[in-house]
Amino acid sequence: MSERVRRLQESARRIRRYALDMGEVQGQGYIGQALGVADVLAVAYGDQLRFRPDDPEWDGRDRFLLSIGHYAIALYAALAEAGVLDVAELRTYGCDDSRLPMSGMASYTPGMEISGGSLGHGLGVATGMALGLRYRGSDARVFTLLSDGELDEGSTWEAALACAHHGLGNVTAIVDVNALQADGPTAGVLRTEPLLDKWKSFGWRAVRVDGNDIGQLVTAFDLLAEHRAAPSVLICDTKIGHGVPFLETRPKAHFMPVEPHEWQLAREALEVPA
Ligand SMILES: [Mg+2]
Repeated sequence: MSERVRRLQESARRIRRYALDMGEVQGQGYIGQALGVADVLAVAYGDQLRFRPDDPEWDGRDRFLLSIGHYAIALYAALAEAGVLDVAELRTYGCDDSRLPMSGMASYTPGMEISGGSLGHGLGVATGMALGLRYRGSDARVFTLLSDGELDEGSTWEAALACAHHGLGNVTAIVDVNALQADGPTAGVLRTEPLLDKWKSFGWRAVRVDGNDIGQLVTAFDLLAEHRAAPSVLICDTKIGHGVPFLETRPKAHFMPVEPHEWQLAREALEVPA
């Protein structure tokens, strides 16, 4: 295993731990999703994105748009790991007057580029932002993290059409395919497969990986970074609760119930080698 992969695995472990710490503060949170997407965020922030931790609004930064506002707990953990947020601030998660509300809002949090949560809008915003950057001659890239549930939204596919039409090679969409959404398993709510074929037919460069395999993520991100003729999408198959075995199989995983004593058990489970 390369040093690069080992370093990012450690980063992902800290992101998971920070998310559990925040979940414990409120006794709840979208912790299953945070554990599932931690590897993707570790590679994005620890290896791919260009940014300045002490200047989150630096004009030359790559933009990372969290379309899924309810994943804010995961992004706060990644921003703390990246040095944009102070780790100590995570203790304020979801509290009155905190900069870290339970759903992501750009007006509150350094490094939070958009207010997500009305689902299906991240890719449209990314498209406009990427056009604007291109007009300005900027080489900054725009990443947006979507859920598989957001592929049920017509607005996502409209944006996919527009993004390809304008040849926005500065856009990378990342789809967290955890096979679940608020109303049940994605395959049962609305069938969206075959995803690779669909995105390719919309004119996108599409790659699919195990989103909990850092080595695969690094290779895929590298590949897509070289390709700037069309927008790129990285489809990441992830497991809800990944890294904490007793949460990976928990029912009602979309807004997973966690007992007060289980947060510490979960942290301990993270330290056990897989
Ligand atoms: Mg989902």
